[in-house]
Amino acid sequence: MKIMVSACLLGINCKYDGGNNADALVLSLVPGNEIIPVCPERMGGLPTPRVPSEIVGDAVRTRDGRDVTEAFRRGAQQCLELARREKPDLIILQPRSPSCGVSQRYDGTFSGQLTQGSGVTAALLMENGFAVTDAGHLRAYLTAHGLKRNGLSPETVQKAIAFRDERNWKQFHNPKDLAISLSLEAAELLEVFQWSGSDTGADGKMDKIREELADVLNYCILMADVCGLDLDDIVLEKLERNARKYPVELAYGNKAKYTELKREARKKKGKDQ
Ligand code: SF4
Repeated sequence: MKIMVSACLLGINCKYDGGNNADALVLSLVPGNEIIPVCPERMGGLPTPRVPSEIVGDAVRTRDGRDVTEAFRRGAQQCLELARREKPDLIILQPRSPSCGVSQRYDGTFSGQLTQGSGVTAALLMENGFAVTDAGHLRAYLTAHGLKRNGLSPETVQKAIAFRDERNWKQFHNPKDLAISLSLEAAELLEVFQWSGSDTGADGKMDKIREELADVLNYCILMADVCGLDLDDIVLEKLERNARKYPVELAYGNKAKYTELKREARKKKGKDQ
């Protein structure tokens, strides 16, 4: 799927305060989909960091009263042109923003209050017939439109638990033995590649990989069940932590560990000053 996304949701530091709105569910869509990041305010020529803006009547104004309507319109128009060229299947935007807000936005009083209505870019994209949702409604949107993520459905998880319970095996499943079993299955997955020399691909190995990966996942389900952990929650929490450790602007195309990335960033900052 081709997806246009508010860049701040991907962990890119383009927010008015120089930060981002990294969103775990949005980030989970990055592998396997073609992602087109956009930041309409930056595309319209505004700097980062910048004074925050809100829609006030027919204009967009900064907190200190400057009219930035033209920059917002310019950014929205550029997003529209990009969308016309790229034809994304879905556009996911940051909620509440005067550019990207889809159904709500800040009310123009700079007090944190919300009002019904869209940001400038979201409105233009929707007027032109693009499928737009915001990150807050993304899970519901994906479910409603049958856009299956590459993941385990609740039915599959229930089947794995039922398989165990029909055999009365839960009595043997304690966290220690499940952790051992999980590691053994992971080792069997590794065994698929043993002695394969410089052949790092999966050609001719897929049947075995399917089988071993299924065993690993099955034990993940059983271990999470015994430990009372929700699989979605733990994976999404970890993705959020990893997004903070590996911000896109530091880690893009770079496999260094996060401590090394931070050291490189500090060194670069020192040189720039
Ligand atoms: S304009 Fe949109 S993409 Fe850019 S920082 Fe604001 S909400 Fe994020």
